[in-house]
Amino acid sequence: MDDLQALVDDIHREIAAHTERGKVADYIPQLAAVDPAHFGIAVATVDGREFVAGNADTPFSIQSVSKVFTLTLALGTVGDRLWNRVGREPSGTPFNSIVQLELEHGKPRNPFINAGAIAVADVLLAGHRPKEAIGEIVQFVRFLAGDETIVIDDRVARSETETGFRNFALAQFMRSFGKLDHPAEHVLGVYFHHCALAMTCRQLAHSGLFLAAGGRNPATGRTVVSRDRARRINALMLTCGHYDGSGDFAYRVGLPGKSGVGGGILAIAPGRASVAVWSPGLNRNGNSLLGSLALEMLAQRTGWSIFGA
Ligand code: GLU
Repeated sequence: MDDLQALVDDIHREIAAHTERGKVADYIPQLAAVDPAHFGIAVATVDGREFVAGNADTPFSIQSVSKVFTLTLALGTVGDRLWNRVGREPSGTPFNSIVQLELEHGKPRNPFINAGAIAVADVLLAGHRPKEAIGEIVQFVRFLAGDETIVIDDRVARSETETGFRNFALAQFMRSFGKLDHPAEHVLGVYFHHCALAMTCRQLAHSGLFLAAGGRNPATGRTVVSRDRARRINALMLTCGHYDGSGDFAYRVGLPGKSGVGGGILAIAPGRASVAVWSPGLNRNGNSLLGSLALEMLAQRTGWSIFGA
């Protein structure tokens, strides 16, 4: 695809014409206030080009997209021992499900469902106070994006701390099985804050570049993870990145991707590009409705699906 700018402009135009935009997440009060009309897309290629359209420079709450970064950080800290704490199988259940956790004795299916990301936050807390662990995550995301301006939206973190009863239930439940080392309040402090990172599509696309380029961010020249680890994180994004909609996303888009209830999706076209889209309205699985559609259009028109020839 020669003219990626024309392509993202076309996608932006076609998405703008859609009237069915999905439903903005309202279980976190601060997110309920976001205008569903926003749409942004940013494509950062491994050869250093960048193509954006729409609200690509408007910060939004990345929510569960942050779980890609905390997973990467935790693997860097404890390596494969992480898999004693959390599995690597798709859950086939909603992002905040409790049912499976009971059947599987408090070990979450994968690091991208809420329970799994809470276990990862527990790992990142080891030897730290919550504030320090949160600071390390922010520093890491700034390093990945090559952008020191990235911050946490404290209003979103507070909003979720006040209303995240289900996440408290998940954490207490895991603690009851002896699967958390730290108090639920501390672990969730870390979890809610990394979910509340505010980023633009442009920043998010840059922060995913290392996954598109075999573990090394070509824009900053810094190696983040080994080639093998990048490949494996991509595999987890493909199989588990969209909760009980992961199969459908793989079928329609065919790229590793991680969604968040803020309406953002980070998708990786290995060897080619890192792509971030944002449209706040969600489908019934809690994934961005028009964001998924935009990625489907992009994958189809570029031929970037990992399943295509
Ligand atoms: N902070 C959100 C929660 O725990 C993240 C969910 C998501 O983005 O999928 O409910």
